[in-house]
Amino acid sequence: MKSVIVVGAGIWGSSLALRLAETGWQVTLVEQHKPGHVRQASAGETRLLRCAHGDDEWYARLAWEAREGWRRLGERAGEELFLESGMVWFAGRPDGWEHASARVLKNLDIPGEVLDPADGRRFFPDYRGDDLSFLLWEPHAGVLRARRATQVTAGLALAAGVRLVRGRAVPVPGESAVEVDGEVRRADRVVWACGAWLPGLFDVPVAVTKQDTLHFAVPAAWSVPETPAWVDYGASAYGHGDVDGVGMKATSDAEGGPYEPEGGSRVVDASSVEQARGYLRRRFPSLADAPVLFSQVCQYTLTPDAEWIIAEESPGVWLLGGDSGHGFKHAPALAAYVAAILDGERVPEPRFGLGHERAVARGLRTSGDLGVGPASPGFGGRRA
Ligand SMILES: Cc1cc2nc3c(=O)[nH]c(=O)nc-3n(C[C@H](O)[C@H](O)[C@H](O)COP(=O)(O)OP(=O)(O)OC[C@H]3O[C@@H](n4cnc5c(N)ncnc54)[C@H](O)[C@@H]3O)c2cc1C
Repeated sequence: MKSVIVVGAGIWGSSLALRLAETGWQVTLVEQHKPGHVRQASAGETRLLRCAHGDDEWYARLAWEAREGWRRLGERAGEELFLESGMVWFAGRPDGWEHASARVLKNLDIPGEVLDPADGRRFFPDYRGDDLSFLLWEPHAGVLRARRATQVTAGLALAAGVRLVRGRAVPVPGESAVEVDGEVRRADRVVWACGAWLPGLFDVPVAVTKQDTLHFAVPAAWSVPETPAWVDYGASAYGHGDVDGVGMKATSDAEGGPYEPEGGSRVVDASSVEQARGYLRRRFPSLADAPVLFSQVCQYTLTPDAEWIIAEESPGVWLLGGDSGHGFKHAPALAAYVAAILDGERVPEPRFGLGHERAVARGLRTSGDLGVGPASPGFGGRRA
């Protein structure tokens, strides 16, 4: 039987462990804390699922496949993990990212509709769109109960025979092995799916930034699914209606300062609250004074070009990371993709490799320009 050690029980590692266990692999999953612990990026209360990715078809197709994966996972778990609220893109320019997205969705037969800015009033109890050029409506996008989905996925993996080892793994140079608490464990393959901890273990072009997320107390009319998710690419702002009484999410996608995921402060900055409130004031004026109900600090793990890392670091040892703040939605489909690589049925797209220079580009994320780049001290890694 083929054996694999997956390090990291975030949504990427847990989904991969589940997939491999169900396709004939003997799987060990190593996690330093617990699946769903609050420091991991996958433990955000919610994550958005959208297919629009500008002019990129690859991620659009993967997101569409993943949507089906989430639906099946929810059925298996007997829980609604994906809330299909739809998503409204607020397009400030007629010919920008949303325009390219609409074209790609059409090419791929993924439902999407270009609407007049005034149509926003159909979706939100209160809304101003006089600065917008058009709206892109994705009816099958929505909101994932992220932390819960991560716990459910890890639980299904254990039920499928995955062995969970609690401990901090360190690489064993030149071997398909990991060391946990002084014990060396070997397997045919090792996959390091370590999120923001990856640059502490391997030399990878990754910057880790602090990201504050905010949820505001809103009247019942602002709940999901009545209120859809929304993204304003030009303003680097996104959110969704109230889910599970946690409040309406309204948050900036712009990169925060450098961050250390293990010991960094998990308290949001006052400036983040002001920034989110400023956006609410402009777009949804009646929410300008809504109180903050819930907040969370998470971290982005950014590559210069926002493309992921799926690369064989040494024979049998794979790095799976650099999610660049847009990886959650894809997890079930990404797991199938990576499993096919480990099975030798396919090779990863060159874009995910480590052998080429990665130019700074942010088209894949919902944030516009950013202040970090390969020359920034934030990029680069160190080897533990
Ligand atoms: C604020 C914010 C908003 C986001 N919004 C979206 C969104 O709307 N849609 C979307 O698709 N994506 C979104 N993302 C991105 C998404 O959350 C990530 O792509 C995804 O959670 C990454 O999962 P992961 O498993 O790679 O990493 P993580 O969830 O961070 O998991 C990594 C795990 O590895 C463990 N680990 C690390 N090192 C070791 C070690 N040496 N030994 C043992 N265990 C180890 C850690 O403890 C951790 O549990 C967002 C991210 C943030 C921060």
